[in-house]
Amino acid sequence: MNLEVTYHKHDALIIGSGIAGLYAALKTSGEVDTAVLSKVYPTRSHSGAAQGGCAASLGNRMEDRWEWHLYDTVRGSDFLGDQDAQELLVREAVPVMYEMEHLGVPFSRTPEGRIDQRAFGGHFGNFGKTPMLRACFAADRTGHAQLHLLYEQCLKHQVRFYNEFYALSLIVKDGICLGAVAWDMNRGGLHVFQAKAVMLATGGYARCWKITSNAHANTGDGLALIMRQGLALEDMEFVQFHPTGVWKHGMLVSEAARGEGGHLTNDKGERFMENYAKEKMELAPRDVVSRAEQTEIDEGRGIAGQDCVHIDLTHLGREKILERLPQIHEMAQKFLGINCIEKPIPIQPTAHYSMGGIPTTLDTEVLADGKEEVLAGLYASGECACVSVHGANRLGTNSTLECAVFGRHGGLRMLDYIRTCPSFEELPGNELDMAREEVEHLLSTAGTKGGVRPVELRERLQETMQKNVAVFRNQEGLADQVKICGELREQYRRVAIDDGARVANTDLIETIELGHMLDYSYMIARCALERTECRGAHWRTDHPGRNDKEWHKHTLAYLKGDEIRLDYKPVTITRHQPEERKY
Ligand SMILES: Cc1cc2nc3c(=O)[nH]c(=O)nc-3n(C[C@H](O)[C@H](O)[C@H](O)COP(=O)(O)OP(=O)(O)OC[C@H]3O[C@@H](n4cnc5c(N)ncnc54)[C@H](O)[C@@H]3O)c2cc1C
Repeated sequence: MNLEVTYHKHDALIIGSGIAGLYAALKTSGEVDTAVLSKVYPTRSHSGAAQGGCAASLGNRMEDRWEWHLYDTVRGSDFLGDQDAQELLVREAVPVMYEMEHLGVPFSRTPEGRIDQRAFGGHFGNFGKTPMLRACFAADRTGHAQLHLLYEQCLKHQVRFYNEFYALSLIVKDGICLGAVAWDMNRGGLHVFQAKAVMLATGGYARCWKITSNAHANTGDGLALIMRQGLALEDMEFVQFHPTGVWKHGMLVSEAARGEGGHLTNDKGERFMENYAKEKMELAPRDVVSRAEQTEIDEGRGIAGQDCVHIDLTHLGREKILERLPQIHEMAQKFLGINCIEKPIPIQPTAHYSMGGIPTTLDTEVLADGKEEVLAGLYASGECACVSVHGANRLGTNSTLECAVFGRHGGLRMLDYIRTCPSFEELPGNELDMAREEVEHLLSTAGTKGGVRPVELRERLQETMQKNVAVFRNQEGLADQVKICGELREQYRRVAIDDGARVANTDLIETIELGHMLDYSYMIARCALERTECRGAHWRTDHPGRNDKEWHKHTLAYLKGDEIRLDYKPVTITRHQPEERKY
């Protein structure tokens, strides 16, 4: 097959244009020639869906300190986060938030004109004791405001954007990353991007569940690129279910709805959180609230016996809902035909956020072995990375913060590295092989009879992940899922697409994404099967309680052919020893 190939050279190549990728690009641009690849138009990246806020201990509404933010983050992570990374996150939060304000993010304001701050689950004052207003926000469109601002700034600083380009493989030679190969989704054709440093900022990957808050593009491509180089992934068993997904659809009713005072109720109209987290109620961390909801549903107290409960905003009043939660009001109206000023919204837990990912150093350098060995020239930040600030469970508003802090920090570190590279290294010569083989093979299956349809595999994957790797997990379900993923991966080898076109071929792209989802889902199920304890978002009904003696450690996993090899590494503790997690 004669596929057209084009070569490009840029000092810095960033794959992904969410908050993490764009913040990194902003820091390298102006200094070195910077390019950003994105499979969706940049402002359609999932960061734009972030509603509720971005945490920083600014103390604009009440006294706050980074030490308190750190404590909440450590405890929220169920003591699995690395505390050196967590400290960097919460300390940098303050200057980064002001930098974003000065760049032009239109934050909501206090009457005195400062950045306003609201409550969010798991954030407290005085080491977990008093309520806290810490989430900086722009109504319920915070991520949207940040993403657009960063995109405009990148354009202003002459970042070169390759929009609707799909990264297919990394170029690695002698332990150094030299670029990536991508497919032009609109025009067709392979593109080789030679670079002095590459950053993966490809976002989250909860698309492998049926009920998910994630965008269609969140298919873990960055993780697959890493796995295919034989490199490690970290803590893949930890995926967070957000308690308030719109029933049957999964889109998010932001936690801001509870932050602003929304109530969760069951079929009897009871505020059931009283029975699970009496003190913190609806503002307990997400894993706690999701389990409470699932228990209500499993024990038959779901609304009309169905798999949903209610979030009730009616007592907040029209004015507050329209001013503070306009997007939620619109979404409930459009997707459910419910006016949330008058009626509660049916909700259920939805697969939301991936704590695990590509292991990195504090400087966002990718760790080839997950432990100490840096792969020179390769960086990762944002949701696809695991620097480990969220450990076993992420606190609301700490993610856009992670993207901003580590995107920015990573961009600066890339710049340092690029300055040590006077010229481009020679490419290995076989840089196209992996990507070309994949595209040619799939295009050649177009229209063949008897092949496996990608949609069948995708639906089976999403349905079984939903059933077996959910809020509550056990040995039987997880072992089943490992087997199912193995079978699906086997069937994928016989997959056939319908569309053989080179131009704007969504069938081709979705099938490549499916291959990625199958690989990392296999890893999620396997890592979850091994971890025989309850920690954060990973809840094993057959292994009650957290088991620090055996499991206070990070999981590392490698995929080789059909085999997954597991390894472990210690958690970095600086200030807070593990303690019982009470709410
Ligand atoms: C509905 C929703 C609401 C949320 N609300 C909040 C909130 O209020 N506060 C908070 O802190 N967090 C929130 N989060 C989490 C947070 O928004 C995300 O974790 C964060 O925005 C991820 O940003 P990112 O930069 O890592 O990646 P994303 O914004 O997901 O961007 C990923 C980028 O990678 C690109 N990409 C991926 N694969 C490829 C490929 N193969 N080739 C080329 N490009 C590729 C995509 O095109 C995209 O540009 C929310 C998440 C969701 C889903």
